[in-house]
Amino acid sequence: MDLLKQKILSEGRALSAQVLLVDCFLNHQVDVKLMKAVGEEFARLFANDGITRVATIESSGIAPAAMTALTMDLPMVILKKSVSSILKDGIIQTEVFSFTKNAPYLLTLKSQFVEKGDNVLLIDDFLANGEAAFGGIRLLEQAGARVGGVGAVIAKAFQPGMEKLRTAGYRVEALAAVSRMGEGFIEFED
Ligand code: 5GP
Repeated sequence: MDLLKQKILSEGRALSAQVLLVDCFLNHQVDVKLMKAVGEEFARLFANDGITRVATIESSGIAPAAMTALTMDLPMVILKKSVSSILKDGIIQTEVFSFTKNAPYLLTLKSQFVEKGDNVLLIDDFLANGEAAFGGIRLLEQAGARVGGVGAVIAKAFQPGMEKLRTAGYRVEALAAVSRMGEGFIEFED
């Protein structure tokens, strides 16, 4: 998606060869017009996959997932990273190792928000090692749904997540796949 790649090149910054900072349009400040275009692109890519629900992981997946769900006219559910005292009935959880926090957390879903037989499109901001995506898949499948697709706004193709998901049989689409980055440069796969 050229618009997204241009934005990454003009406003993103490689903090290292592993970590890309895009907090000016995706992770902190949000460019909602770009997110609308992102949602339309995911909707186009997964238009023929029989998707019945969009899921995401809080918090940075919410904007692109909401725009995707809106465009596809589908319900959306957020997988939570923290549990509060009001979120305790009917929940299922799985442990996920956080790439950015370098620590595990419990990904949580109130199973009533997914229907058995749902075909879910799981959207997230980044795909790196695939921990978050595989955690989301475990929860959604435990709730009786199947995952018909995984959409990453940005995938770091030099990390193993995308390949692992594809090897496990999931369809993965990344709107920008970074092949290499470092101080002052960011390169994309074709
Ligand atoms: P994974 O679970 O695939 O290793 O990492 C995906 C999650 O870690 C995403 O939900 C995202 O929030 C975060 N993440 C991974 N890599 C990056 C990165 O380079 N930059 C930012 N901002 N977040 C990342």
